[in-house]
Amino acid sequence: MTNPQQTKSNADFDAVVIGAGFSGMYMLHSLRDKLDLNVTLFEAGNGVGGTWYWNRYPGARCDSDSYIYCYTFDKNLLQEWNWSERYPEQDEILRYLEHCAERFDLKPDIQFGKRVVATTFDDQTTLWTVRTDKGDMVTSRYVIAAVGSLSTANVPPFKGLGSFKGKWYHTSQWPHEGVDFTAKRVGVIGTGATAVQAIPEIAQQAKHLTVFQRTPNFCVPARNGKVDPEITKARKADYSGVRERIKNSFFGFELNFIPKSVLQTTPEEREKEFDRMWDDGGFSFWLANYQDMFFSKEANDIIADYLKRKIRATVNDPVVAEKLIPKTYPYGTKRQPLDTNYFETFNKKNVLLVDASTDGPIEEITPNGIRAGGKEYPLDIIVIATGFDALTGPLKNLGIKGRGGKALIDEWESGPQTYLGLSVVGFPNLFMITGPQSPSVLSNMPVSIEQHVEWITECIGYMHRHKLTTIEATPRAQEQWVTHVAEIAGATLMPQANSWYMGANISGKPRQFLPYLCPEGLGGYRKKCAEIAERGYEGFVFDGVNRTETTESRAAE
Ligand SMILES: Cc1cc2nc3c(=O)[nH]c(=O)nc-3n(C[C@H](O)[C@H](O)[C@H](O)COP(=O)(O)OP(=O)(O)OC[C@H]3O[C@@H](n4cnc5c(N)ncnc54)[C@H](O)[C@@H]3O)c2cc1C
Repeated sequence: MTNPQQTKSNADFDAVVIGAGFSGMYMLHSLRDKLDLNVTLFEAGNGVGGTWYWNRYPGARCDSDSYIYCYTFDKNLLQEWNWSERYPEQDEILRYLEHCAERFDLKPDIQFGKRVVATTFDDQTTLWTVRTDKGDMVTSRYVIAAVGSLSTANVPPFKGLGSFKGKWYHTSQWPHEGVDFTAKRVGVIGTGATAVQAIPEIAQQAKHLTVFQRTPNFCVPARNGKVDPEITKARKADYSGVRERIKNSFFGFELNFIPKSVLQTTPEEREKEFDRMWDDGGFSFWLANYQDMFFSKEANDIIADYLKRKIRATVNDPVVAEKLIPKTYPYGTKRQPLDTNYFETFNKKNVLLVDASTDGPIEEITPNGIRAGGKEYPLDIIVIATGFDALTGPLKNLGIKGRGGKALIDEWESGPQTYLGLSVVGFPNLFMITGPQSPSVLSNMPVSIEQHVEWITECIGYMHRHKLTTIEATPRAQEQWVTHVAEIAGATLMPQANSWYMGANISGKPRQFLPYLCPEGLGGYRKKCAEIAERGYEGFVFDGVNRTETTESRAAE
């Protein structure tokens, strides 16, 4: 760990970074090695990796293609690292991030096993004080929340969970030694992206598996496997091209919408396109479909119908197939799970589907299993795959208090309010990486993470060059941003689903579309952020002064 020497501002550190996943690791590297700042990083886990440190359930792997699910800021790293598959498993991604931590010598500046519980701004000193659950208390000029969008587990308050005599696990808090399902009666609660990965794996090992489904999901095949070495070679040869394309793409992938309405196609023409995307596997069916898919219910129904037919063709029992077919929300408005034998698993004799709407919802967890729809299902192990308190959960847990002791949790009582998803009014020098109202979870996240880390680094570098002490968003800029994000979401079909994008998976969470769907895509959002910086950080005030309304601007640098 760097000696907490006193910096010029009399703080223990120039910057405290919270979280050691993709975001925090690059943020630490960037501030320490590019700007030569005195930085410390607090991480609740006992290792680096974030998502890939915690989520060790069977079948855990990424859904982004590996050649772009990685850092792209280091050309040599890109050339030297080789992924074994199209979508590597959790342990391989963790190995990659551990390799990065070694390569960039990050560990000496990371304090593991320390959860930040209070983050308080002092109006007099304009410094933050950060406290951890282990009793640490440090002061810092900047705080960067790299706490992840999907890192606060959602364990619904099931009645009777404490009485269960068997073992239960949340998928994101999985034991490092693994779980042996052999000869066990297992219940999985949930059918989201995580469950879709885990269910086929657990079904292979368990004596019996009961899946408790609240809402069925549209799934498309992952089509995992080895990548043709010639393709890998070509990608490595053109990495700067790949990098530019994903940076300027709509969602951070090398994918583009079909520039046409599905309503203008013949049934034969669109069926051919659907088959092509289905055969490609991965996110192309979701993120490179006909351009009106997210906007027109009529168009969406045509696309959804193809997936419904696939479910009927795969699942042998027509009653089970109907239970697995989504009927209550438009396709694509929930996170797209990628599957490997998910629907086929329901053809196995040892697998039972209990569907909340037809069989009855979970009523309680009993000492011996789960009671749903008036019937008790005896179980030895319960796997809770109910996801996360997405985007806002991890930030609310930081105990953030800004100017005048204002608590972030109160400011966000009726939903998050941010400027660009990077900053919040009244919380100077606090930055969020992939915060709410930024593209975040609607993108291949490493691309969004690198953009935020680089923007924050530039911003702090600018402040140092100009001897500025604080930066914060203006109420007007934030209000306009919040309105803009909501208007864009409102023009899509997204609000029609009870998704975690809408906060609908958490009881009492305000219903609000949490990420930002930029009409010009991720590339457009990147451009917006860059232009704001070029105009002297428009929408922000430095040291309480709005520099974009003064003669001093970045352009005049
Ligand atoms: C199962 C799963 C599969 C995924 N697959 C993909 C995919 O295919 N493609 C994609 O783009 N994204 C995927 N994601 C999203 C994934 O979270 C991001 O891609 C990426 O890993 C986020 O990195 P991060 O550093 O921002 O956050 P995280 O990896 O979540 O790291 C945040 C870290 O902050 C720490 N932390 C949180 N609060 C505190 C606190 N109070 N004090 C100290 N430390 C704290 C956590 O312990 C964690 O280690 C997936 C997520 C999950 C859960």
